[in-house]
Amino acid sequence: MSFKALVSRQREDGSITSQVETLEDDALPDGNVTVAIDHAGLNYKDAFCLTGRGGLVRNYPNVAGIDFAGTVEDSSDDRYKPGDGVILTGWRVGELHWGGYSQKQRVNADWLVPLPKSLDARKAMVLGTAGLTAMLAITRLEELGIHPDSGTILVTGASGGVGSISIMLLKTLGYKVAALTGKPGELDFQALGADEIVERQGFMAPEDRPIDSARYAGAIDTVGGSILGRVLKQISYGGAVASLGNAAGIDFETSVLPFILRGVTLAGIDSVMQPYDPRVIAWERLGKLFDFDKYEALVEEIGLEGLPDAADRILDGKIKGRVLVTP
Ligand code: NDP
Repeated sequence: MSFKALVSRQREDGSITSQVETLEDDALPDGNVTVAIDHAGLNYKDAFCLTGRGGLVRNYPNVAGIDFAGTVEDSSDDRYKPGDGVILTGWRVGELHWGGYSQKQRVNADWLVPLPKSLDARKAMVLGTAGLTAMLAITRLEELGIHPDSGTILVTGASGGVGSISIMLLKTLGYKVAALTGKPGELDFQALGADEIVERQGFMAPEDRPIDSARYAGAIDTVGGSILGRVLKQISYGGAVASLGNAAGIDFETSVLPFILRGVTLAGIDSVMQPYDPRVIAWERLGKLFDFDKYEALVEEIGLEGLPDAADRILDGKIKGRVLVTP
């Protein structure tokens, strides 16, 4: 049986080129479950894998795609049988193991979670890794004692996948939300659920002091860099920041003041190696909480051929919401 996949190859000069190719089943990697892929997503990290940035992909040819959802075609693992709906996110699939930019993929059963009854494959990939990470970040803030009466939650990188989904989820849960963005006029953040829009330029502009006025009970930071340092200074007493991204950089400067004067917690969020049980709980919760109809305006649909262009746009910060890939 043959299938189509976007195959990334390395040229002699080291640059990466990705093209749709027709492959035979015997080209599939080792694994115990073969999945017919209905949809994949495009995430910031996918753009790194497609362009060769960051050295995430070690071996070529590679099929990128860090998340996908589909139907089990063949399984030698007791947990899954043909016809089962499944989701895969993370586990370094798309980097170290062939991923979702393909009509089918063979993977390790340990990496899969069952598709919850409240979702279908399309909905699962509208959310994708971005949705899972947003849900994990909110859950972590809740575990740290943040609740809707604590005060406003700041979401950075608000127009991006994780940011926009976080805003919608927080609003549904009853939180007041501030959206920090570099694209204030390009998106209806209020319709998404934001009570307040904070322009990135203005946020970074005021005179830099060791600590600022306390404005937010918590934050979901998808961008890192100097923005994260500034966010920490504006968190109120007992608040918490979920740090999960690096779109603005990996380094940031801070002092101990937010921690020792206000008892602020900085919590790291990782979706890639997240164990099975919290994944399943997060997906079930997403299926119940997320308003897909409301989010549809932020879903861009592409095929495998559209991926190289979309990867360039996500790296330039030009994508709004989520890109859904139908192989
Ligand atoms: P997107 O590209 O969809 O969103 C990132 C957003 O960040 C952009 O839309 C833009 O929002 C903002 N941004 C982009 N570039 C800059 C910049 N130079 N300075 C400041 N802000 C910038 O990416 P995702 O939502 O998919 O991912 C967001 C981040 O989270 C990435 O760094 C990604 O690697 C990370 N991530 C981490 C995960 C984990 O498990 N920890 C899982 C998933 C993602 P705006 O213009 O509105 O400010």
